Formats: sequence, C-alpha cells, structure tokens
Amino acid sequence: MEPLGQDEIRKSFVNCSRGEAKGLTFPADFDETRWADLDYFGWRDPRAVNRAYLVVWHQGEPVGLALRAATQPTSRSKSAMCGFCQTVQVQSDITLFSAPRAGKSGREGNTLGTYACSNLACSRYLRRELKSEAIQPQESGSLEYHVSRLETRLHKFVDQVFEQR
Ligand SMILES: [Zn+2]
Repeated sequence: MEPLGQDEIRKSFVNCSRGEAKGLTFPADFDETRWADLDYFGWRDPRAVNRAYLVVWHQGEPVGLALRAATQPTSRSKSAMCGFCQTVQVQSDITLFSAPRAGKSGREGNTLGTYACSNLACSRYLRRELKSEAIQPQESGSLEYHVSRLETRLHKFVDQVFEQR
C-alpha cells in the first residue's frame, strides 16, 4: 500500500470521534513499517487492549476504521477463519472485531462485526512472514490471488461500514 503518515491516519477515521482518533496510540515500531508489503495497516492500541484500528486505501483515499475487540477466547484446540485474509487460526489467535458504522447509524449504536486475525497482520500471514499455528486447508493460488481476495473483502467491509441502515 502507499505509505501514510500519522497525521494522515488520524484524519482518515470515518467511524469514531475526532477525540478518539487524536487519542489513539500508534505501534512503537511505526517508523519501521514496510508499507510496500502491507495491504492495509492494522494494529491493536498498545494502551487500550480492546481497541484496534484498520486503515486502507479505498477509492483513492485512506479510510480509517476504529474497531472494538471482543474478549479473546483462550482455546488453542479449536480453529477459526479470518474474515479478511481467510487464514485458519487457532481460536486464541482470532478475535471478533466490531466497527461502529459511519455517521448517524454508528452514533445510534449500529456496528458491523467480523472475525479476523487478532494482531491484524493478515498481510504478513499471506506473505508467510508469520505462520498460523492451525492446519490450513489445501489451497493453491499465488500471493497475488490471495492479496486480491483480501482486498475485495476489505473494500466490502468498508462499504458496509458506510452503508446507512
Ligand atoms: Zn487475517
């Protein structure tokens, strides 16, 4: 993805207050981010365990989503699939994230949920920099194929956050 600065990211959020975007904490190693190897920038707030963020270029603009992380299941015997990159993870490495919808709908409490890699490092699993502890289904397909599938799912999620209902 195209690189982003911290100010740009703070301004990109569409589903939280300016105060929340201002108050978020970036990962300590932000300056070492290898943007070219990322499909989206996602992280857990180092100071607020149940807060997470995801920023993706969407229709030419950076769009940031504030997410709430549900309490982590601890089971390592069961597995579940990430709704973004479709990596199968042991259950303790998958988290249910919910995003308030953008605008009025979100202020009225409407959210959208998805299971995703707990560390929001989908790009690193697809590039095999990180390895899931769960057994993966037999799957073929190039990195490009998996990346384009991840992008499709991300853009769909962002579109749904914008949908008013
Ligand atoms: Zn994932």
